[in-house]
Amino acid sequence: MSHAWGYAPNNGPDKWADNFPIANGPRQSPIDIVPGEASYDAGLKPLNLKYDPSTCQDILNNGHSFQVTFLDDTDNSTLTDGPISGIYRLKQFHFHWGASDNRGSEHTVAGTKYPAELHLVHWNTKYPSFGEAASKPDGLAVVGVFLKIGDENANLQKLLDAFDAIKAKGKQTTFANFNPATLLPGCLDYWTYDGSLTTPPLLESVTWIVCKEPISVSSEQMAKFRSLLFSAEGEAECCMVDNYRPPQPLKGRAVRASFQ
Ligand SMILES: [Zn+2]
Repeated sequence: MSHAWGYAPNNGPDKWADNFPIANGPRQSPIDIVPGEASYDAGLKPLNLKYDPSTCQDILNNGHSFQVTFLDDTDNSTLTDGPISGIYRLKQFHFHWGASDNRGSEHTVAGTKYPAELHLVHWNTKYPSFGEAASKPDGLAVVGVFLKIGDENANLQKLLDAFDAIKAKGKQTTFANFNPATLLPGCLDYWTYDGSLTTPPLLESVTWIVCKEPISVSSEQMAKFRSLLFSAEGEAECCMVDNYRPPQPLKGRAVRASFQ
């Protein structure tokens, strides 16, 4: 890569291994989840997500996605149970999406692509900070939620309404009192496997928890995601679309299901 990573042909997922050789490592994400090949594990606990809206801080266009960042100096917004042990704190959430409704998710289910995927990123408090946890095999836990075209989702609207203020790369604005639990599906059945960050540096530190049930989004709401820009102010406008990495080889890993 002659310049920073992105999602274009000259700096996209096929090129990431040039600067980040772990891209070809043993536990890369995302993957194609084949439900018939996932094993039900009766020992998997229900997810325990406790989110405090007062820890929500700001919303940022980082040039790859938009993310909502949370104050993580206390155990106010946490993930416990499920496939993990200990306490993981919410750091941020962000989305991946396509240029059209027929693609955009990172994980796929038996080859099916969803138009978008939400990632809620948590770090293991046995480490002193997100930065230290991000390189440990049990350092991060990311909850993935698929978006499926259907009814307009009122819980997404507050996010979409902030997009005008963060259209270009590097733009940030305060985003207070948002409860990310409102973005979760009604049923928290999940698949879980050991994987990685899906963006450089692609660290193999993520316990993935992918919800079986998608949440809804309207086609009009999806169009609004595509109004964000990869480009900074003053640069040629480049729409933020297709910011997803395709599925990576399973390499013998087990995918477990919390449900039968
Ligand atoms: Zn992500």
